Amino acid sequence: MNAAVHYPIGIPGKPWGTVEKAEWLARQTRQRSYAHDVLAAIDRLRARFDVTQYGEIDHGGERFALLAIRSRDWRDDLPCVLVTGGVHGYETSGVHGALQFVDTRAADYAGRVNLLVAPCVSPWAYERIHRWNADAVDPNRSFREGTAVPESAALMRLVAPLRDRWLVHVDLHETTDSDESEFRPALAARDGKPFAPEGVPDGFYVVGDVEDPQPEFQRAIIAAVANVTHIAPADAKGEIIGSPVVGHGVINYPLRELGLCGSVTNARFRTTTEVYPDSPRATPAQCNAAQVAAVCAAIDFALRHGA
Ligand SMILES: [Zn+2]
Repeated sequence: MNAAVHYPIGIPGKPWGTVEKAEWLARQTRQRSYAHDVLAAIDRLRARFDVTQYGEIDHGGERFALLAIRSRDWRDDLPCVLVTGGVHGYETSGVHGALQFVDTRAADYAGRVNLLVAPCVSPWAYERIHRWNADAVDPNRSFREGTAVPESAALMRLVAPLRDRWLVHVDLHETTDSDESEFRPALAARDGKPFAPEGVPDGFYVVGDVEDPQPEFQRAIIAAVANVTHIAPADAKGEIIGSPVVGHGVINYPLRELGLCGSVTNARFRTTTEVYPDSPRATPAQCNAAQVAAVCAAIDFALRHGA
């Protein structure tokens, strides 16, 4: 046991109750503006895209409109593509990569697919640069029927009417140094479990679904992103964050079992991107560009192989 690793809230081995969660919440501070960074950017897209509000988050009276961007030329005969960002609010390039994709590349797919982009699923956490929502819950473990987690429930309601129409879903994420220094220790403390360091992979990788891994699809995304930023190598055990590497830069998770956003549709082609913004070899611009490249590669592959 490493005696140095004790999260400052709660008693080791004892799951948090309401007191500990309140203590955690009191430590969270607003560090950036969803209205300024996200809503204003969406406003600038309204001349070219339709914008719909699909819900509202209300944490203690603080309200956030949940917005989705849709193709203006939406046609019922076209396959649908879902892009989600900011399911983990702190994962900045997921949010800004989604917005950059709409701004710079979405027009390339006009008349070929219907695009639905939810760029910032968890806005309270975007402002706090945190993984959890204000209830100390991870929205990305909460995509389950009947979920009480508002960020996840709103997205599930948004995509449900198009249940059998999805061709592609790309869920944009990051793996950061703060996962290992803050968020995984906090998770262990919250659940009364010991924290076991896993290390942080240096580079981009993707997560497929163990139930339907689509290796050629994942490979096409890795090949495209490798032109923008470096791909994470397997560690000494042949793993990335504890999962076996099944292809260069590719691991698989049981998406539905874990309640991950990647299981929110039945799209034939689904992937979760993991950009590494803390690498000395990657700039914020590169991280956004990696997300955009991943989305485009995913749609391009799907149109070649599945539409
Ligand atoms: Zn994430």
